[in-house]
Amino acid sequence: MRVVVTGGAGFIGSHLCDRLIEADHEVMAIDNLVTGDAENLAHLAGHDRFQYIRHDVSNFIFVSGKVDAIWHLASPASPNPLSPYGYPQLPIQTLKVGALGTHNALGLARANEAVFLLASTSEVYGDPEQHPQREDYWGHVDPIGPRSMYDEAKRFAEAITMAYHRYHSMDTRIVRIFNTYGPRMRLDDGRVVPNFIRQAIEGKPLTIYGDGQQTRSFCYIDDLVEGLLSLMEIKSHNPINLGNPVEMTIEELADLVLRLTGSEAGVEYLADQRDRSDPQQRRPDIGRAKEILDWEPSVPLEEGLRATIEDFRIRL
Ligand code: NAD
Ligand code: UDP
Repeated sequence: MRVVVTGGAGFIGSHLCDRLIEADHEVMAIDNLVTGDAENLAHLAGHDRFQYIRHDVSNFIFVSGKVDAIWHLASPASPNPLSPYGYPQLPIQTLKVGALGTHNALGLARANEAVFLLASTSEVYGDPEQHPQREDYWGHVDPIGPRSMYDEAKRFAEAITMAYHRYHSMDTRIVRIFNTYGPRMRLDDGRVVPNFIRQAIEGKPLTIYGDGQQTRSFCYIDDLVEGLLSLMEIKSHNPINLGNPVEMTIEELADLVLRLTGSEAGVEYLADQRDRSDPQQRRPDIGRAKEILDWEPSVPLEEGLRATIEDFRIRL
């Protein structure tokens, strides 16, 4: 197949490009590098089935020749306002790529009668009142809150994807990705795993926002990409959660990172750093993915963190 990956120079996108190349596809990665890094694709440069196109997909996307599948991953993804790559610092770009970028990517898919996959997010559930989160939960999002530029952009992206599916009979997929981590995350991305690993390697205290009792469930990149590839194979148009259901507090994650890195710098609590939309708890119900895709994560957190720590040590 000839496929397009928007956001292909990002963390998830670059790992997906690798797997697609391995599977003998011709891959075109489109990215404007707003949060991504061309270094993530450097090893593919010169490959005869790989092409990198630097372009902002919020503007019309032109691709010559037939395209069979579009993986639409382009979007800032870190909620941390302290990072220059966090979506609170990129509010208009984030809303535009979720709305206009998704519209353009759908248009490209429609013109080519291509399959379209949208990378959505667990953030569509907001600060959830149902736990764990199932796909039929409508969510609890503050439409003008500190994360609204991302949450509402993704909710719009889901809505326009379903509109194209229903109105234009397009073959679409929506995946709601839960916290995913691994090698190639930006060192200064601002999300909790890269922050903690970097701080631990540099011998600094790990910054816990709030009291650290909020929970997350962390999925290793290889498991996620496996789930994405399975989903593309199956005609299933309603949203599907992909994530690891093993839930832990942020305080527990900090302890684990300290142990795995051997850091003795401890933790530092930053009460004010937690934004008011920061979900108190998050864990995917992956029943639908298990049933439809026969998928569940297999990489234990310790193993995934060790691989990520190794990658961070090399890059730092
Ligand atoms: P990332 O920032 O590493 O990758 C996103 C990529 O999209 C970057 O390379 C960025 O430059 C590119 N991009 C952004 N706006 C663009 C635009 N207008 N035109 C072209 N390229 C653009 O983040 P990631 O973690 O790899 O996230 C990838 C996708 O998965 C995003 O859509 C994100 O919302 C979604 N997601 C990720 C997670 C996670 O835990 N990693 C969780 C939920 C959803
Ligand atoms: N967090 C933290 N310290 C950090 C970065 C994040 O305690 O240095 C917290 C953050 O407040 C949130 C959780 O870790 O409760 C996960 O944050 P992340 O930015 O990874 O993404 P989120 O799951 O909130 O989208």
